[in-house]
Amino acid sequence: MKKRVVIVGSGLAGSFLALLLQDDCMVTVLTKGKINESNSMLAQGGIAAVMSENDSFASHIQDTLAAGSFHNNVDVVEAVVKKGPQILRELINLGLCFDQDESGKFLYGMEGAHSQRRILHSGGDQTGRVITSFVQGKWQNVEIIEDAYVVDLLKRDEKACGLTCGLIYLDQKECWQKILADKIIIATGGIGGLFPYTSNDKTLAGDGLALAMRAGAQAKDLEFIQFHPTILSVNSRCCGLVSEAVRGDGARLVNDLGEYFMEEVHPLGNLAARDIVSQEVYQQTLNGQKVFLDIAGVQNFAEHFPTIDQNLKSYGFKIEEDHLIPIQPGAHFFMGGIKINLSGATSIPHLYAIGEIACSGIHGANRLASNSLLEILVFAKQIAMDIKVKDFSLQDKIIEETEEIEIIPNLPAMQELHKRAWEALGIVRKTNKMKDFLVWLERFSVVEKIPRNWSKKEIECYNLCQIACDITKMALARKKSLGAHYVL
Ligand SMILES: Cc1cc2nc3c(=O)[nH]c(=O)nc-3n(C[C@H](O)[C@H](O)[C@H](O)COP(=O)(O)OP(=O)(O)OC[C@H]3O[C@@H](n4cnc5c(N)ncnc54)[C@H](O)[C@@H]3O)c2cc1C
Repeated sequence: MKKRVVIVGSGLAGSFLALLLQDDCMVTVLTKGKINESNSMLAQGGIAAVMSENDSFASHIQDTLAAGSFHNNVDVVEAVVKKGPQILRELINLGLCFDQDESGKFLYGMEGAHSQRRILHSGGDQTGRVITSFVQGKWQNVEIIEDAYVVDLLKRDEKACGLTCGLIYLDQKECWQKILADKIIIATGGIGGLFPYTSNDKTLAGDGLALAMRAGAQAKDLEFIQFHPTILSVNSRCCGLVSEAVRGDGARLVNDLGEYFMEEVHPLGNLAARDIVSQEVYQQTLNGQKVFLDIAGVQNFAEHFPTIDQNLKSYGFKIEEDHLIPIQPGAHFFMGGIKINLSGATSIPHLYAIGEIACSGIHGANRLASNSLLEILVFAKQIAMDIKVKDFSLQDKIIEETEEIEIIPNLPAMQELHKRAWEALGIVRKTNKMKDFLVWLERFSVVEKIPRNWSKKEIECYNLCQIACDITKMALARKKSLGAHYVL
């Protein structure tokens, strides 16, 4: 009998893994919203890979380590950089297209902290949508359940923090459902929902990290959260990313005094690593300056960046007239997460994690632009291989039912949580603010299992409080600044 695999999340990580497993296993993908709601669908810049003969593995490895402040796991960096191009070629052979010039050569994009043009892109700035839809389009034997909010794992041996064998979720009608599996994969993406300012999809609230930690999984590097410097700012709200590839094509940051300030701050200027640019943009706003991206130097903006152009138009900007895009920084990518090994396995048997919610160590203290899609492709292969070779079935084992616990939730208002998270865990951190935040967070209910009488909103808020607590503890433990963790 085929193994039953349940994947939580329909971004590129969950979708590609489902494709790789569909012939050998019974695969079900559960996703919180609709199939196309994910950060993967929003990825603009592209996918970093050594595909050009002018490039080298050594150079990509060095750029990844330097951006990550050398906090990276070198073995993982090497594995991803070296294995990634072959997987891309396989996908290209299956029909995936990347942008090319008239002679059929790939058009490589440039992004911050890369020493080479090595970013493959598709549809200009629609790479994530193109790859994810392509992969999902190849599904033949994958069951997808939408509007399935996964809440907790079911385990066989609670005391020993042992084997996973299923999970519970709230369905579209907010009814509780249970699903059993031989292997479970958490692919729930990042934690942007913790912050008031973010580039992330609205379904991204760190649920996977919270539920895995409740089940006893180990987490790693939670203090490292990447803030993107250039998110379109409309009335101080984040309204969609303006990719770093736009700066790669010649855009420059400028304040309302007309100062092109990045050129003074770092030798790489506008293309310095994201932590450096975000800190500087943040400092400018603290000084009372408004910050813009000046795209006067970008050739064929609308053609190269159709999604960004469309988004600007939808907010009424006439960018061809004044060339200035108002921007602000916001939470973008989570370098930390559920600790995994090179096979994608977590510390709990039969539980894997992949993508942004997993911490393989590749990104170190700050991710190099466009490395996350590459990491996903490589880890999906590793996990698929691991699952195929391991012969173990848990489906017939008895499962301890989740008890009914009636708890009246004691939870904060989301707006208050957002405000405090931004002050304590944002771009610039202060020890006293983090300590105050922790004390404030500790007032709220502590539960080992989510009570069945909580609504989706309450569960999401609880999960965010739980991960905020753990992130703050790790951030407090790291006394000195490193990469995206910047303490004053
Ligand atoms: C605007 C933007 C642009 C980016 N551009 C690039 C780029 O150019 N190159 C690059 O390499 N990286 C880029 N990134 C980062 C990259 O897109 C992500 O890291 C990557 O797509 C994450 O993939 P994933 O499958 O792990 O998560 P996601 O694609 O975010 O998918 C997570 C899925 O899990 C679901 N989910 C969450 N919680 C639950 C739950 N409790 N129950 C059920 N389902 C759940 C979500 O709804 C979603 O479907 C960008 C990110 C953003 C936000």
